[in-house]
Amino acid sequence: MLIGEEKISEALAAQQIRLVMSLRQAGVTDAKIISAFERIPRDFFVPPTFQDRSYDETALPIGMGQTISDPNVVARMISALGTGKRLKVLEIGTGSGYQTAILSHLYRRVYSIERHSTLLADAKARLEFVKCFNVTTQLGDGQKGWPVQSPFDRIIIAASSQNIPDILLGQLAEDGVMVTPVGPEHGVQKVTRIAKNRDGIDVQDLFDVRFLPLIGGMPETDGITSR
Ligand code: SAH
Repeated sequence: MLIGEEKISEALAAQQIRLVMSLRQAGVTDAKIISAFERIPRDFFVPPTFQDRSYDETALPIGMGQTISDPNVVARMISALGTGKRLKVLEIGTGSGYQTAILSHLYRRVYSIERHSTLLADAKARLEFVKCFNVTTQLGDGQKGWPVQSPFDRIIIAASSQNIPDILLGQLAEDGVMVTPVGPEHGVQKVTRIAKNRDGIDVQDLFDVRFLPLIGGMPETDGITSR
């Protein structure tokens, strides 16, 4: 049995190396971002049913109708965000905790909000296991942001909005950057980079994605049955 398990983990490790190589090919050049992807095993954040697809460059189901983001998209969004060990980042949509773990290696402090309690409980356990101790999470509606911890140097949103979310933009520091998918709920959205400066904001459309939408308010039922 053990030999079988070792084979599986060897195969997953080889796939992780291939994923990192493909990130380089996709133009992710920041060595710190590449190193964060080398350190975080995506298979640990993927449900058992999809283990063999852990390193596919695609989103995968995590329950509650939600998905773990495509690693390629995560890497490109973080590249657009720009990293820095002195920066404080807000993430909306903890999901599996995978992107949170990557962020944890690249920023001083990570604040992450998730609206599903079951997803958040699993994500917190994983983040603790991989020793991401600079992460603080909150169960809540991320559209409202985290006023008491604002302003944030960086804000990254793992779900799409039809317009740039104003409340979150208001919690971005001067010289801060927010990266979010903007576009229709069902269809292609643009990853958008919003840089705040003294004179206002500078908005850049970057690349096409298909994210699930940011949902306002809290879920009515959050039990195991609807999972
Ligand atoms: N980055 C995550 C991807 C999560 S998918 C990962 O890699 O696993 C998007 C997540 O955003 C889902 O978990 C969903 O529940 C959450 N979400 C959607 N709307 C939200 C809101 N208003 N506030 C907080 N979380 C929200």
